Amino acid sequence: MNPNDITFDAHHHPENDEQYAGLQVNSGVEQPPMVNPYLKRRRKPQLTVNDFVEGIRKGNTSVLGQAVTLVESLKPEHQSVAQEVIAKCLPFTGKSKRIGITGVPGAGKSTSIDAFGMHVIRSGGRLAVLAIDPSSERSKGSILGDKTRMERLALEHDAFIRPSPSAGSLGGVARKTRETIMLCEAAGYDNIFVETVGVGQSETAVHSMVDFFLLIQLAGTGDELQGIKRGIMEMADGIVINKADGDNVDRANLAAAQFRNALHLFPVPPSGLTPEVITYSGYYELNIDKVWAMIDRYFSHVKESGYFMEKRREQEKYWMYETINEKLRSNFYNNPEIERMLSEKQDLILQNRQSSFIAAADVLNYYYKNLITNQ
Ligand code: GDP
Repeated sequence: MNPNDITFDAHHHPENDEQYAGLQVNSGVEQPPMVNPYLKRRRKPQLTVNDFVEGIRKGNTSVLGQAVTLVESLKPEHQSVAQEVIAKCLPFTGKSKRIGITGVPGAGKSTSIDAFGMHVIRSGGRLAVLAIDPSSERSKGSILGDKTRMERLALEHDAFIRPSPSAGSLGGVARKTRETIMLCEAAGYDNIFVETVGVGQSETAVHSMVDFFLLIQLAGTGDELQGIKRGIMEMADGIVINKADGDNVDRANLAAAQFRNALHLFPVPPSGLTPEVITYSGYYELNIDKVWAMIDRYFSHVKESGYFMEKRREQEKYWMYETINEKLRSNFYNNPEIERMLSEKQDLILQNRQSSFIAAADVLNYYYKNLITNQ
């Protein structure tokens, strides 16, 4: 048949004509899914301790991030790798400025850290931002340190932002943060910020792992010192009043004066320096250099006086005891038998059938005799 002779016929299928014998219309073939099914099976190669150390030392943030994940993991096998990595990183730690930053929610911590951090980076520094927030249960990690809160820093190669380890005991969370500081130092970050909310106990933990503790305050109405816990004031090495911009400048200055007066009532801190009080605006980036100059003055002073090293040595000791306390406590309270015994004993005590002291002695004796494990 001459193809030109073909007239249109809806029921005629020219591809089945004899002359097109080479044409085969097959039934459809099932298409593969869009995602390669083999991709799932490919596992990330397991890094060895040496891979971790090498990657960290080269400043590879992906390896650093994975190492921090091991530090934060509760699995014993992860913990043992993490501890080896930390031990090998130890010789490369200690050279950063460790700065704690606290303030109530809304004080402007993240805005300020973004501004301070950009200042550090523009001056040629590298910065890690960590956080301690044991109270937060949100999505396993904390909102503190969340990358979206520090918009500019999040885009910087020289910044490493890590949210707080997931909720747990304060001791546990704090220890993990301290170990993360060491890994970050080994990775070459020469400024470490540790952020915490200015409520609760976490300031004490942060204070015990930083060289300089910065308290962010706001100018409010009425008595500026109201509601500020004495303990936090005593811990501060510097106080900054944020949001000193627009028509808030006068109030910020007034607040600063009140803080300066109040600080005279405190004994001189062990550093030998009465904290300075400075007003600034994190949002409009006003006086950021003044805040930084204050921090620099502090570091020069304590390095010269020897207090810097003295404080770090004290902190090392503190963390040894703190780690022992935390391990003992978690080994004890996380034991299922102890949990069961404690709930029984609690009932007995509530029913007045046993005294608290005897109940405690019973549980402890049982623990000492039967349950102490090496974890
Ligand atoms: P955080 O909860 O302490 O981390 O506080 P944020 O950094 O999230 O700030 C809380 C609010 O205060 C946000 O709406 C910021 O935009 C605002 N803010 C922060 N710093 C300043 C500042 O310097 N000036 C002004 N006017 N607002 C600020």
